[in-house]
Parts: sequence; structure tokens; C-alpha cells
Amino acid sequence: MSAAAPLLSVNGLTKHFPLKGGFFGRSTGTVRAVDGISFDVAEGETLGIVGESGCGKSTTARLLVDLIRPDGGEIMLSARRLGVDLPLRDLRRNVQMVFQDSYASLNPRLTMEEAIAFGPTVNGVSTAEATRLAHELLFKVGLEPKRFAGRYPHELSGGQRQRVNIARALAFKPKIVILDEAVSALDKSVEAQVLNLLGDLKRELGLTYIFISHDLNVVRYMSDRVMVMYLGEIAEIGPVDAIYERPSHPYTRALLAAMPSMDPDHLTREAPLAGDPPNPINPPSGCRFHTRCRHAATVCISTPPGLYTLPGERHLVNCHLAIPNSGHPGIEAVTA
Ligand code: SF4
Repeated sequence: MSAAAPLLSVNGLTKHFPLKGGFFGRSTGTVRAVDGISFDVAEGETLGIVGESGCGKSTTARLLVDLIRPDGGEIMLSARRLGVDLPLRDLRRNVQMVFQDSYASLNPRLTMEEAIAFGPTVNGVSTAEATRLAHELLFKVGLEPKRFAGRYPHELSGGQRQRVNIARALAFKPKIVILDEAVSALDKSVEAQVLNLLGDLKRELGLTYIFISHDLNVVRYMSDRVMVMYLGEIAEIGPVDAIYERPSHPYTRALLAAMPSMDPDHLTREAPLAGDPPNPINPPSGCRFHTRCRHAATVCISTPPGLYTLPGERHLVNCHLAIPNSGHPGIEAVTA
């Protein structure tokens, strides 16, 4: 992994959705979908993002590709700040996204060749060159151009459509591809093929991935680092081995406890999560996980922990248990 300045840097990213109601459409509350998160992504790495639905992972992805506008925070790409010396069109071109629904992502009236060529032609590339590029990309994603260039979305399988969506993303020659549950709807055997394809493309093209999934096994397989989100905040972020072998946040441990494990060395003693996350309109005070955490203490209810860097590695955790002198009574027992 590169030790140079991060390719992508996100600082204090925030998105709150106002809820309207009543006769006059008055604001009745705010969904704090993403609440001041900060993280970096190094060039060439894959950052996995996990968390239950509603944790803010997909909203984070949409903020990064400007599908929705943030309410606060800054986004930097290659040390250029969005809105200052990074024009929006540069961010959009360099950060592409592949969604879960392969069919809805494609225009049913465009052939695969037209779908892939569309982006480049809109950006001024000649039709002939964009078509040549589309054929090249079809080949790269494992679809024989002669067979697939003239087909429409309904004539392809889900796995083939997702390969076309990957080709469409690559047509912009992006630096970063965000994969938002991009393999989640596929059969397991097809999923494995697409994951291998993504690995090959990353090596060949020097891509950087942000890989969002509810499947912790797939995230472990794909990621260099993993970010765990809970109710719009980062619960824990660190190298994949640290997160899976030495998780520090009780939420991460509970998520991992729900994974089946045949290895007696890796059985966790944390209880799996019970119930749903609290309402993001009124998130709990202090640590947002305190209503579901069996280690919750008084300090957890009153004071947000904030991200604390554990010694030795780029492993940050948002929990009083890990923070020296936080006032949590269980700190010595857990960190010893
Ligand atoms: Fe649990 Fe407290 Fe840590 Fe939150 S800060 S995860 S409530 S121990």
C-alpha cells in the first residue's frame, strides 16, 4: 500500500435529510444519515464498508459521486479540494459507481455497445472512438464483443449485465470505482467470477475500490482496510486483519459474531446483535451504540467517544473501552 498522500480524503462529511410533515410541509425531524465522518483511501487499495442497513454506507457512496450533495465536510481527490481546485466534473469522471441492481442501471433501449460508449461520447469522444473503446472494454470484462455488443439488457444474465455496468464505469477511465452491493444480487458462483474479474481489473488498471457490502466474508476477501459504520458514524476502521482478528468495537465484534465460523480459534464470545438499530432521526446520546451494547457505562450515555487511534497500526475505534482515561470502568479488563 502506498505511503504517499491519500488518493481520496474525506473530512467531516455530513448529510442530514429533513423530514417534512403536516399541512404546511413543516420540518418534523432530521435523519442524520451521515454525521461528520472522516477517512482516507490510499491509491491502489480497497476500502470495504460494512454495517447494517441504514448505517449510512450507501449515502456515503452517493455523496462521493455527487448523486446527492453533502451538508458539510470536504472531499479531496489527489490533494485537490472539491469546489476549490477540484471541479465537480473531475470528481464525477474520476469516481465511478456500480450499483446492486444491474438491470435498473442500464437503459433498456440502448445496446451494450451504446451503453458503454454513451459516457465518452457525451464527454466529447467521437462515436467511432467510443465504439472502439466499448468493444475493448467488453473484451476486458469477459464478454466477447461480437456476441454482446448489439444485445439489449433483457438479453443478458444478471452477471453479464453487471460486467457491462463495470465496463460502463471504466469507460470514464476513473481512479476510483465504488462498488455498492455490486455482487449482492448474483448467484454465489457468478459472484465469485465477478469478484475475480474485479481483482484482475484492479491489478491491470491500477484501480482503487470502495467496496460496500453486507456480506462480511466477501468484504474480507476483497478489502485491504475495512470501515464499520453505525448510525451515520464510523464505529471502527483499520486493516482488514485487525478488524477481523482483533476487532475493538463491541459493534464490530457483534457483527462478526453473527458470521458462521468453523475455526475454534476464531470463535467470538460477543453476543450477536439483537434488534434493529435505533431511529436515526433521534440517535442515542453519547455513544450511538449504547442502547445495544452490553458494555455500556454511564460515560457511554453522556459522552461521544470519538475516533481513537490504537497503538501500532492505522486502526481507529470509536469506543470508550479502547480510550485510556475515558472514564469507562471496564477499560482495564478489556484492553489488558
Ligand atoms: Fe459500548 Fe460504551 Fe463502547 Fe459505546 S462507548 S460501544 S456503549 S462500551
